[in-house]
Amino acid sequence: MLAAFDEEGKLVNLAEAVPRKQHFTCPACGEAVRLRHGSVMRPHFAHISLQNCRFYSENESAEHLGLKAELYKSFSAFSLVEVEKLLPELGQIADLMVNEKLALEVQCSRLSKERLHERTQAYLEHGCQVRWLLGEKLWLDRTLTSLQRDLLYFSANMGFHLWELDLDRRCLRLKYLIYEDWHGHVHYLVKECPFDDNLLTFLRLPFIKQKMASYYVKMDQQLLTYIQRQLAGRNPHWLKRQEAAYLKGTNLLSLDVAAFYPQVRPLESETGFCQITQDLSNFYTAFFQYYRSQENKSIQRLYPPAFYEK
Ligand SMILES: [Zn+2]
Repeated sequence: MLAAFDEEGKLVNLAEAVPRKQHFTCPACGEAVRLRHGSVMRPHFAHISLQNCRFYSENESAEHLGLKAELYKSFSAFSLVEVEKLLPELGQIADLMVNEKLALEVQCSRLSKERLHERTQAYLEHGCQVRWLLGEKLWLDRTLTSLQRDLLYFSANMGFHLWELDLDRRCLRLKYLIYEDWHGHVHYLVKECPFDDNLLTFLRLPFIKQKMASYYVKMDQQLLTYIQRQLAGRNPHWLKRQEAAYLKGTNLLSLDVAAFYPQVRPLESETGFCQITQDLSNFYTAFFQYYRSQENKSIQRLYPPAFYEK
């Protein structure tokens, strides 16, 4: 943690300055915390005992501390920002609170779906927006984990997107126009904003009117071989699709590869996306309608949702 009360009851923020050694207490539980200076970890406070603290539950990693401090410095140049903002009525602490309405959560480790849902809902019910920014262990690679699926945001201009933090390169990264193919691989574009620039402007980018981005993906001509292997390996998703095909009196393996076009598709979630409240059904419909009328089925160009819906 970076914030604690000093002996005079003043809130100390280690992202700003490191005070002299003295007794410090946790702003949330009032228990004693120790100021630590390590060689690996930046200066931070740590509870002597976490037993009575409902707010802080674990020791933080160097990455988490470092990112909070970097973000604090970056936001304080352009906006009103508080580090480790205590929200007693929510029973939680926001890693950073920008302009009193935007909570930023620096997420460097896994957390349960239930906890994520609970925390997200608490912010929304209190009129705060929340952006989950992902540390290195949670960065998006070739496939989406179920946790990443619950950390996706959506906008008409940039489609499904995710936020990542890079402490080494000192930047906030946006992965956007995320689509998924039949192999379960994701396709997307990337934009970065250095910590020295205005991060709040960057966080608003998905909702700003802009030139439409797009990219091409070549269709996999060997898709049927892949499906055959999945069925042989009893992949439950493909067994379910084959079942549905049988009900329509057909067999996936007897279809032409063009029947699987478009191979790159909008993301779906069986339980609903945790961070997305808008109804996406028009987008899904418009998306598939657009590709039905495309002649060349060996390649697919992907656009933002606004493109398909216009
Ligand atoms: Zn505490």
